[in-house]
Amino acid sequence: MEPFVGKIEISGKVEVSEYFHFLLRLKGVAIVNCDRCGKEIDRTVESDSEVFFVPEGMEGPGGDFVEVFTYDPHGAQELDLTDVVRDNLLLALPMKNLCEEDCVGIATEHWEPDEPENKALLRSLYDKLREQEMNDGPK
Ligand SMILES: [Zn+2]
Repeated sequence: MEPFVGKIEISGKVEVSEYFHFLLRLKGVAIVNCDRCGKEIDRTVESDSEVFFVPEGMEGPGGDFVEVFTYDPHGAQELDLTDVVRDNLLLALPMKNLCEEDCVGIATEHWEPDEPENKALLRSLYDKLREQEMNDGPK
């Protein structure tokens, strides 16, 4: 489940009435790149999520902050929580990631910009900066 690696811990409870109401605590480890040097680092991500599964055609609970999914009450043998788990963990991923608090970035000594791996690194840093720029919007 990209970018998460290893086991994802899921705990919580489900209340069953005319629909399913999940209260989930999720914990997983994601591999992300350091914003300054591009090194791969592990980030532990935790999320508290509230999700409803409502039979198709039925009115679910309202509210802007409520995640509601539907299922086929006659066909479904099980509820697939995969997307729920992935989406909520992705949302919980921090925007800023540093390998160390005082990471100094890429060592420029002996820096060979033409090395393919350095090109790839620059490319990924560039993409990341562009992405942040887009998210921040015009200043
Ligand atoms: Zn770093």
